Amino acid sequence: MSDNSIQDLAALIDEASRVVIFTGAGISTESGIPDFRSPGGVWSKMKPIQFQDFMASQDVRRESWRRKFEGGDKIANALPNKGHLAVAKLVQSGKASHVITQNIDNLHQNSGVPETQVIELHGNATYAKCLDCGNPVDFAPLELAFTATGDVPDCEHCGGIIKSATISFGQQMPEPEMIRAEEATYGCDLFIAIGSSLVVYPAAGFPVLAKNHGAKLVILNREPTDLDGYADLVINDEIGPVLSRAVKLD
Ligand code: NAD
Ligand code: ZN
Repeated sequence: MSDNSIQDLAALIDEASRVVIFTGAGISTESGIPDFRSPGGVWSKMKPIQFQDFMASQDVRRESWRRKFEGGDKIANALPNKGHLAVAKLVQSGKASHVITQNIDNLHQNSGVPETQVIELHGNATYAKCLDCGNPVDFAPLELAFTATGDVPDCEHCGGIIKSATISFGQQMPEPEMIRAEEATYGCDLFIAIGSSLVVYPAAGFPVLAKNHGAKLVILNREPTDLDGYADLVINDEIGPVLSRAVKLD
């Protein structure tokens, strides 16, 4: 780990008046949740289910619940790691205004970032939701029903289809979150992208937006990304060790 790049990151944070943190699956691998694109990541094992297929077919819905309930829920058992705690420290000290995340694991909230300052672009995998009326539903009763009958019930309020509260491929991005993320990005003078391959759009558009709007851009990721050429500072290293030193955690 280069001391120089950690000092450079600390200096950029110091000089900034308003930081926005943008995170991807890479910040949670140290908590034991695999990312999508690393070797051994989720996609080397199974193909993602497209939203249209989920809506069109009861068999596909069953397959998605089977993955959820029989696949060993890594997200439910995960704890925040040093990377999350370093980010939480930046928010709690008032340095960072928001955490825009592509993650669905709730670990930013669990690490102490207030709900109001986390913007989830791809939803949340710790609960389910009715696709029609938005009614939130706990997984526990769904899992009981699935085990007993092989299906999950429809919404008890409106009869709509229940789905994990995540945004699937092919599903529309949540508009309020997109607007909040855009506002947060326009309002920052330092944008730090952490643990994202920066290939999933529109999420990956935010670092570009920040840079085009005059903010400095830092990219912290184990491997190079397509946006490295835009960045003021690129650190290709492990997230937990770098961030905890840059923000002087403990
Ligand atoms: P990605 O898998 O495309 O990229 C993750 C990046 O993080 C990779 O480039 C990898 O090299 C890097 N990385 C992994 N561990 C690291 C570490 N310890 N230190 C430094 N770098 C590390 O993930 P993405 O860009 O977030 O996009 C994938 C989509 O998958 C997201 O939209 C998200 O919704 C979803 N996803 C979420 C989770 C989660 O919530 N934890 C997990 C898997 C996938
Ligand atoms: Zn409903």
